[in-house]
Amino acid sequence: MLITVSTTHRPATDLGYLLVKHPDRVHAFGVPTGTAYVVFPEAGAERCTAALLLDIDPLALAVDRPRRGGPARGSGSTPEGFTLGRYVNDRGYAASSLLSSALSTAFRSAMRGDSKDRPELAATAIPLELRVPALRCRGGADLAGRLFAPLGWMVTAIPIPLDPTRPDWGDSRYVDLTLAGTLRLADALNHLYVLLPVLDDAKHYWVAPDEIDKLIRAGAGWLAAHPERGLITRRYLAHRRALAGAALARLAEQRLADEPTDPDTVVESYDGGADEEAGLPAGVDRQPLAALRRAAVLDALDRSGAARVLDLGCGGGALLTDLVRNRRYTEIVGTDVSTRSLAVAERRLRLDRLPPRQRDRIRLWQSALTYRDDRLRGFDAAVLMEVVEHLDPPRLPALEAAVFGHARPGTVIVTTPNAEYNVRYPGLADGGLRHPDHRFEWTRAEFARWAGAVGASYGYTVSISGVGADDPQVGSPTQLAVLARTGGGEGGSR
Ligand code: SAH
Repeated sequence: MLITVSTTHRPATDLGYLLVKHPDRVHAFGVPTGTAYVVFPEAGAERCTAALLLDIDPLALAVDRPRRGGPARGSGSTPEGFTLGRYVNDRGYAASSLLSSALSTAFRSAMRGDSKDRPELAATAIPLELRVPALRCRGGADLAGRLFAPLGWMVTAIPIPLDPTRPDWGDSRYVDLTLAGTLRLADALNHLYVLLPVLDDAKHYWVAPDEIDKLIRAGAGWLAAHPERGLITRRYLAHRRALAGAALARLAEQRLADEPTDPDTVVESYDGGADEEAGLPAGVDRQPLAALRRAAVLDALDRSGAARVLDLGCGGGALLTDLVRNRRYTEIVGTDVSTRSLAVAERRLRLDRLPPRQRDRIRLWQSALTYRDDRLRGFDAAVLMEVVEHLDPPRLPALEAAVFGHARPGTVIVTTPNAEYNVRYPGLADGGLRHPDHRFEWTRAEFARWAGAVGASYGYTVSISGVGADDPQVGSPTQLAVLARTGGGEGGSR
């Protein structure tokens, strides 16, 4: 079983840096079904090719035990129990789900888009050619085109004849697949990781619920909008309906988050339309409320003493740009469910222009706050700035469990509009919300009740303040809560 990855980017040998494999050596990895090798059949300045070969141990494959990890399980667990098919089958020769899991073992950091030596290149689209000479393709060669072409690949899928000497026998179920395009290497590898087992569609492997997370993660940035996402999801999850339904619901959430908002419909730009009524002297600068809010969040973060911080629901990255400027923050992670927002944040941060040591402090991850994400554990502090009001109220307990119960940062800083203040915005007096995507806005009492309940359930103390001019009747336009974890434990009674 074989995949090759080639580039004509100059110098092409940079491919070795991106894959973290020296082109002069043979790299071997133990995988559950045998041994994976990475070698470089060509490594010149103009063209470089890495090959991933998988040498399958038929006995390892035949062992009938469900394991975690990858849809890449052998066809061992057939419903009939022992069959000859467990030992005599095409698994050793055809690229399939097994190759896909070998891919994630051999190229783990490249698939994440990480590169210590060539971070700019890892973030850049480069000319690539991928070849899978024997790919089992259930549904015919056309399907390969339907799956890869929408992702920006030029697809050549040539059916392999059953027997070249007997053309009358027709074609086998295998194709010789070549993909050419200019893409980021991480995206290319994630496309293969997901779509090889989808094309193979061997149904007899064991699929654990954590496969949904793997699919969502590998599909970040491309699967939610893919025209064949339904087929991809069903096949990847081995036609388990409940799992596919849950995954498709998460992809739908991502698509929704990617829908643009008309800026003209957003109310709330300044620190109070109320200032004039409040009798501020003429000439006093009215600061945009967003700037005041960031300043208040930065101040609270500073007081918490945090060095490793999460900006959850980071949007276009306004707060991240402030965090990056401050060296006390040694690790900064922005997450959002919306890939559009993450792309804006990436541009705004100008990651490609930062020196590698600076760039290494920052990560942008697609992640939905209503699902547990192990990557978010162990941080000093997390910010939820103007995020909670974007969730439907029945989804809030899921966010609370994922953030306060699972990620469990030492400090959580939450900001949200103060609904009472809305009467001070011309146009909102009739009970409207400040932003078309807001699902609710809380009064001061409602926010205090929510924060108090979360703190009590998960072991955090709560202190609440206001941001922006403090109106004697209705308070400040923004509310801010700092929740500080009390014990070190994994508490949480919800
Ligand atoms: N914190 C940023 C953006 C606030 S807008 C700022 O203050 O400037 C709210 C952000 O939350 C949006 O970018 C939206 O995509 C994100 N978001 C909404 N629901 C989410 C969810 N369930 N998981 C992760 N992010 C979510």
